[in-house]
Amino acid sequence: MKARPTAIATLGSHCALQVLKGAKDEGFKTLLVCEKRRVSLYKRFSFIDDMIIVDSFREILEKGVQKKLAGAVVIPHGTLISQMSSDEIEGIDAPIFGNRWILRWEADREMKQRLMEEAGLKTPMPVKSKHDIAGLCIVKLHGAAGGRGYYLAWDCKSFEEGAKRLAGQKMIKGEQDLYIQEFIRGVPAYLQYFYSPVTKALELLGVDRRYESDIDGIGRIPARQQMAAGGEPSYTVVGNIPLVLRESLLDEVYKMGESFCRAAERLVKPGMPGPFCLEGVYDSEGKFTTFEFSARIVAGTNLYIEGSPYSGLLYDDPMSMGRRIAREVKIASKKGRLAEIVT
Ligand code: AMP
Repeated sequence: MKARPTAIATLGSHCALQVLKGAKDEGFKTLLVCEKRRVSLYKRFSFIDDMIIVDSFREILEKGVQKKLAGAVVIPHGTLISQMSSDEIEGIDAPIFGNRWILRWEADREMKQRLMEEAGLKTPMPVKSKHDIAGLCIVKLHGAAGGRGYYLAWDCKSFEEGAKRLAGQKMIKGEQDLYIQEFIRGVPAYLQYFYSPVTKALELLGVDRRYESDIDGIGRIPARQQMAAGGEPSYTVVGNIPLVLRESLLDEVYKMGESFCRAAERLVKPGMPGPFCLEGVYDSEGKFTTFEFSARIVAGTNLYIEGSPYSGLLYDDPMSMGRRIAREVKIASKKGRLAEIVT
């Protein structure tokens, strides 16, 4: 892509409101690919200029929709990743903001682990076989499931029981669909970054934690009743809670983000332009263990439409992640450098 995009487009879900509001604030025309059932919701917002109405988001792969997107930059988010395969995303005709090839590294657990290790990040120990489980582990499903179906296991038997339950619920075909990881004790934190290849600067724009059902509600049930009721906790994300970190942790936060960008440049060109998130747990020593990354905008940035305690240190305008993306498109197109931020 060479010329200034005619519009900024995204799918109607996840963080679409923030992305399109930010695009409008930066002077772009906005375009929403919207499922019929959600039109009434998105019609409420005047900053959405146009909609491409579809029955299902998968129609974005069809020629008709791709033609309507001509000239626009598409901002990828969690819904695109969860509804389409990596091959399909890579095959989309329209220019995609950021590195479309790194999305495969986000979707595939083994590639994900490789990139985090290349970045020198401390990660939970992967457990290769259910027979190697020794100590508390978290069992995950492949893909961006938003924590759905995750469960805790502490030995082979508890792993098998959980797998059986998920298979019964048709969430997995079998144990091969599961990924076992050491469970890290501490508090979760999601570090929201933006890397600009144009300025070569990494920005921390926000931090959040997720509000997960029902694990975050379990503390409201006294121990005796918990023990008597039994049942497995789940990790389904229902929202996000803002977080500010101790200032003494920030230097390390920047260093981790920078190592991640350098590792991405080495493993999957052109690297990590745009928004990304390192997701992990701070332990009692204040050490961060990264259990996941998202190589695109995360929904936790929806907290900061008016800016965050961190973006306020860098910008005078209220700078959401969505607006930061649009500003990068604006600056890069003025400088003739769109090819560095769009793939
Ligand atoms: P995810 O979908 O991978 O972001 O994880 C959903 C939730 O599971 C996180 O917010 C954490 O509460 C929890 N979690 C995931 N991995 C780990 C881990 N290795 N140790 C402790 N908690 C974890």
